[in-house]
Amino acid sequence: CGIIGIVGTAPVADRLVDSLKRLEYRGYDSAGIATLEAGRLNRRRAQGKLRNLETELAQAPLAGQIGIGHTRWATHGRPSVANAHPHATTQVAVVHNGIIENYRELREELLRDGANFESETDTEVVAHLVTRELRSGAGPEAAVAASLPRLKGAFALAFMFDGEDDLLIGARKGSPLAIGYGKGEMYLGSDAIALAPFTDQICYLDDGDWAVLHRGRAEIRNAANDVVVRPIQRSSATA
Ligand code: GLU
Repeated sequence: CGIIGIVGTAPVADRLVDSLKRLEYRGYDSAGIATLEAGRLNRRRAQGKLRNLETELAQAPLAGQIGIGHTRWATHGRPSVANAHPHATTQVAVVHNGIIENYRELREELLRDGANFESETDTEVVAHLVTRELRSGAGPEAAVAASLPRLKGAFALAFMFDGEDDLLIGARKGSPLAIGYGKGEMYLGSDAIALAPFTDQICYLDDGDWAVLHRGRAEIRNAANDVVVRPIQRSSATA
């Protein structure tokens, strides 16, 4: 039920977990993070409290200066490690808040195309949709742009890509998502509270917006893929 993303200049694993703690108030049944270690996607997930994810990370730490994190409130698929986010293929990792209403038909379509599903969630179709675009030659931005119009329902999404250590993509329709502007770092978060330890410079995406984040800049597009400017506000959320 909470999302955090960091494209940064210092290790992110601890910071992702700390930020997820700030989103605990929303309720959750499992949690996970993914980072890029030497350019490769890695993730750790745990059922239950964030304490369990911390134990997992203590046993098997994750390095990396870019990452995404999630607290899950299960809607499709029981609470379990396999159903916890991030969901991933070898090429992309995704975290999602909300519900993909047409996930059944998308899953059928992707199964016919040879996708291997590892979870019972509605979310996993998003990872496979984007992966199919990447495999057919699209770059990360084009792959997300082609996939978003296929999704019915409500979502806040954050994507991270194998081999892309200066790129996060966020998207929202129905569920909130904000960009945080830092000093040489950029962030995605469900709200300003999650981002407060990092920055008070917050930009809320409008419904239908999606955003491409690099360490030094962000570009926001609307549902028609036109570049748009959204106001940056000073948040009063306390760190
Ligand atoms: N529908 C997704 C799931 O059940 C996301 C739930 C959430 O918002 O945490 O995994």
